[in-house]
Amino acid sequence: MQTRLTEMLGIKHPIVQGGMQWVGLAELASAVSNAGGLGILTALTQPTPEDLEKEIRRCRDMTDKPFGVNLTILPTIKPVPYEEYARVIIESGIKIVETAGRNPEPFLPPYKAAGITVIHKCTSIRHSLKAERIGCDVVSVDGFECAGHPGEDDITNFILLPLAARKLSIPFLASGGFGDGRGLAAALALGADGINMGTRFMATQEAPIHDKVKQAMVEASELDTALIYRTLRNTARVFRNDIVEQVLEIESRPGQTNFEDIRELVKGVRGREVYSKGDLDRGVWSAGMVVGLIDDVPTCRELLDRIVGEAETIIAQRLAQVSGGPIHELA
Ligand code: NAD
Repeated sequence: MQTRLTEMLGIKHPIVQGGMQWVGLAELASAVSNAGGLGILTALTQPTPEDLEKEIRRCRDMTDKPFGVNLTILPTIKPVPYEEYARVIIESGIKIVETAGRNPEPFLPPYKAAGITVIHKCTSIRHSLKAERIGCDVVSVDGFECAGHPGEDDITNFILLPLAARKLSIPFLASGGFGDGRGLAAALALGADGINMGTRFMATQEAPIHDKVKQAMVEASELDTALIYRTLRNTARVFRNDIVEQVLEIESRPGQTNFEDIRELVKGVRGREVYSKGDLDRGVWSAGMVVGLIDDVPTCRELLDRIVGEAETIIAQRLAQVSGGPIHELA
């Protein structure tokens, strides 16, 4: 499959592994890149910019294919030296950066000067247009289905993607709700140049998280996510568990929620322990509605080959048949 995105990023398959806090380590990013997609390291998973520099080197030792780095700017409990992380990304020679959260404009001049391709995650069309206007190269359009932060508009990809196709000139990724070949074929039909997956990559052999988390995702249905931080306008879609129920209860109390009341429950280090120890109720962990489509824990290569193969079959056979055209033989 060739799209503007595969050309621009120098990858075989139009599939990107989006940034994931505590999950986007070299093991996963290199596996995705080696399998023909674009793997992405998550900068803030590294405790310091120096650790990020080491992680980039570790990833380079594990793949000679392109990979990127995600630098997300959202509220955090401890202040983050974002400029320092950005400096390490640039000085390490990274050529693809995924930005998310706040407007990336202040970071664009140094990224552009370093020849970096910037993919900005947006949960709305107005932010996508702004990203295009300020010089981002690709937009990752993140629908309401997504894991992590879907924004506050609650618009699903069935509306966002055709709008993006109508209004954007730059290539865009469809993000949120993707996990199989049907999704990839649909994303391409809706105008996207590829898909971005996070949750689906968590349930792979190479994802550096506990098997119990992967198994929980296999067993989960599309009803097993919940939205927290709504009252703080920092909404996040997470896997529903005991901690999340407690957060929701606090947020449902009358009056404005004070972040201090939930801080101990939601702090990222507890979420990290879910992944490292497999204690599913230890903390908050991100997951998208696509958990309802996850039935197995393949390698990244098996997953990407399967998704692309399914999508090609759908396009060349099912869709060709529906439109009355010739049915192409697939290799
Ligand atoms: P953390 O421990 O600093 O905070 C835990 C959660 O509380 C985060 O979701 C954060 O956004 C939220 N939060 C913190 N202060 C807040 C405030 N004053 N008001 C409202 N919400 C607040 O977070 P962490 O787990 O160390 O993660 C670091 C950053 O990465 C966070 O901003 C998080 O949202 C973000 N993140 C990134 C990705 C990614 O893919 N890169 C995925 C999920 C989350």
